Amino acid sequence: MSNLARIAITGASGRMGRMLIETIGQSDKAEVTGAVERPGHDWIGQDLGLCLGGAETGVTVTDDAATAFAAADVVIDFTAPAATLGFASAAAETGTAHVIGTTGFTDEDLTALSAFGGDIAIVRAGNMSLGVNLLTQITKQVAAALGPDYDIEVVEAHHNRKVDAPSGTALMLGQAAADGRGVDLNEVSDRGRDGITGARKQGDIGFAVIRGGGIVGEHDVIFAGPGERLILRHIADDRGLFARGALTAALWTLGKAPGEYDMLDVLGL
Ligand code: NAP
Repeated sequence: MSNLARIAITGASGRMGRMLIETIGQSDKAEVTGAVERPGHDWIGQDLGLCLGGAETGVTVTDDAATAFAAADVVIDFTAPAATLGFASAAAETGTAHVIGTTGFTDEDLTALSAFGGDIAIVRAGNMSLGVNLLTQITKQVAAALGPDYDIEVVEAHHNRKVDAPSGTALMLGQAAADGRGVDLNEVSDRGRDGITGARKQGDIGFAVIRGGGIVGEHDVIFAGPGERLILRHIADDRGLFARGALTAALWTLGKAPGEYDMLDVLGL
């Protein structure tokens, strides 16, 4: 019997789904044992490898998440909020750990997801890269060190197919800045400016969003103070970065107690 961690991928045909399958294919620690797509998808009932234009893998793409999850140690899920809530419920039923990269959740969604953390290990992060998770720590420190006369703005850029804004990463960075300042992000976040907005309110944390072309993901946290600006920047060059982070998280969940975790736990930051 193989010692490889058995991983089920949801949204297998998506940008991140494909990247995860490629990344796991190159790993000597894990294998893809399940691939899930929505009912009616062209790939259902087909061999995953053939769907991807490669050799046969013996993994049949399915819309039956529970069966795919029952045969896996971990699910890696980069899909959409409504889909992820359903997958979390299925993973809790089958006792399969759930690594969630999906972004765009509402507060109600997050409360619903939390309930499943009582049954299984869940790792959720709006960004799975080491660099961004380090950046959240640095952002928190800088925000704590600089006074309220340093205006904080988070600027993010992504490809033209992204459906949620600001990005999950921008929200993570905004949250880190708010934590550093000891304020509630919901009370200070300014997520859209247009027209005669009036002067900037001191203490706000602003978000600005750029969408275009194939930009993988870029984030700046700007601290604009009297006579100087400090800019913390992260640039993702390649989606493989997120897939490698998700695989690290998936391997980390093996044998972990039920609970809600994030990439800071996984990376020991
Ligand atoms: P994408 O290319 O649109 O892929 C999403 C996939 O999920 C598609 O295959 C989609 O199928 C599938 N899907 C949606 N609903 C489903 C359902 N009910 N059942 C099964 N499959 C379903 O998007 P992406 O660029 O890969 O991004 C996916 C998510 O990951 C987004 O929320 C994005 O923000 C996030 N993301 C996170 C990180 C991170 O590090 N945390 C990094 C990159 C992206 P259809 O095409 O049939 O709808």
